Amino acid sequence: RWNSTNVAPVDDEGYKGHGMLAPFTAGWQTTDSNPLVIEKSEGSYVYDVNGKKYLDALAGLWCNPLGGNEPRLIAAATKQLNTLPFYHSFWNRTTKPSLDLARELLGMFTSNEMAKVFFTNSGSDANDTQVKLVWYYNNALGRPNKKKIIARTKSYHGSTLISASLSGYDVYRNWFLLRVASPHYINILICQLHLYCTPIAPIIGDIIFQVRLKRIMGAGGVILPPKTYFEKIQAVVKKYDILFIADEVICGFGRLGTMFGCDKYDIKPDLVTIAKALSSAYMPIGAVVVSPKVADVIYSQSNKLGTFSHGFTYSGHPVACAVALETLKIYQERNILDQVNRISPTFQDGVKAFSSSPIVGEIRGTGLILGTEFTDNKSPHELFPPEWKIGAYFGAQCEKHGMLVRVAGDSIMMSPPFIMTSNEVDELISKFGKALKDTE
Ligand code: PLP
Repeated sequence: RWNSTNVAPVDDEGYKGHGMLAPFTAGWQTTDSNPLVIEKSEGSYVYDVNGKKYLDALAGLWCNPLGGNEPRLIAAATKQLNTLPFYHSFWNRTTKPSLDLARELLGMFTSNEMAKVFFTNSGSDANDTQVKLVWYYNNALGRPNKKKIIARTKSYHGSTLISASLSGYDVYRNWFLLRVASPHYINILICQLHLYCTPIAPIIGDIIFQVRLKRIMGAGGVILPPKTYFEKIQAVVKKYDILFIADEVICGFGRLGTMFGCDKYDIKPDLVTIAKALSSAYMPIGAVVVSPKVADVIYSQSNKLGTFSHGFTYSGHPVACAVALETLKIYQERNILDQVNRISPTFQDGVKAFSSSPIVGEIRGTGLILGTEFTDNKSPHELFPPEWKIGAYFGAQCEKHGMLVRVAGDSIMMSPPFIMTSNEVDELISKFGKALKDTE
């Protein structure tokens, strides 16, 4: 009989002292404080175990555009579970849902032709795959030293060892950084398209390229790229034969009002990372999408170089692929881009109307993604003392009013589900306003 007497039972104290070491949660929190336990979801709302209802202004973790209880996704998962719950995709064995999904996905890259898809379980392992794939590509081209990767300040690319090393936030990298290669060999630029775009363009190749762009105030949270940002970066990566990876884990599948963030900023990447909205988070799945330029080298050199020995038991999991396939069909049939573009002006204008608040430094966003940065405007845009924890306080007020947002220091972020009705957008704005009043 299993015995877990060292874990607190669920009683009047709620789940305090529970047995889970939770991701991105301080040790003391997992032990001493009661987590918010979500029990069910319905459309744009989630409910906790006490029955309290919350507007999910973050769509889970930026990942559930179709919200809770989408019957078609539940049916697609059930059908596949009943037919073939699992078979792998190793060694040229595979399943039909994974082949169908690869075909469907490749068809979606209309402005930048893509050739192949490699399936993973998440955005993090997709970014790990990117690095191994690009190293394989350069080995195949006889350039084994071309290994350096450039990622941008304040980017987030995942939490596995490699993807955390790519992330430009000390809190994600400290202790975990994998230091790679010599400064003279750069082969990839990995770019999160929209979120946390660094105010100063990266120095590529240490000295090759530096350009100063409009300074955007503050740390973290949905920082928009200045107009010519990606145009300039693309020119440089092309000149120095650096591959460009677009991390579309958040921006992909409509969040910015275009199918991919790349479409919005006219980016022609060599490789693309996708996850999250690919299955509307109903099943875990990610993927690397590979351009003909990279795929051709892998195809033509693999006899000489050997197999690309990389993959996961669940790469191309049939249930995840069946659900993702149905998700993409829903996006198409319901004109998801029209829906995003219909509700996003009210969302953006409504929240940005609070910009004059004495504690709001800046509200930034586009489509259905938005970040708010709190600063003390009495002494022009001074950061608040960190111990005041304004962001966390605001997040708690949102929770009190029945809304969930993402808090990161003194920034808060929202990325609502695409299915939000106009009334729900109004509710979001009203709850944002109430939480702001309480925080002021
Ligand atoms: N890349 C980006 C841009 C992300 O926002 C995230 C997660 O938030 C990841 C990668 C990692 O994805 P996952 O959490 O599915 O591993």
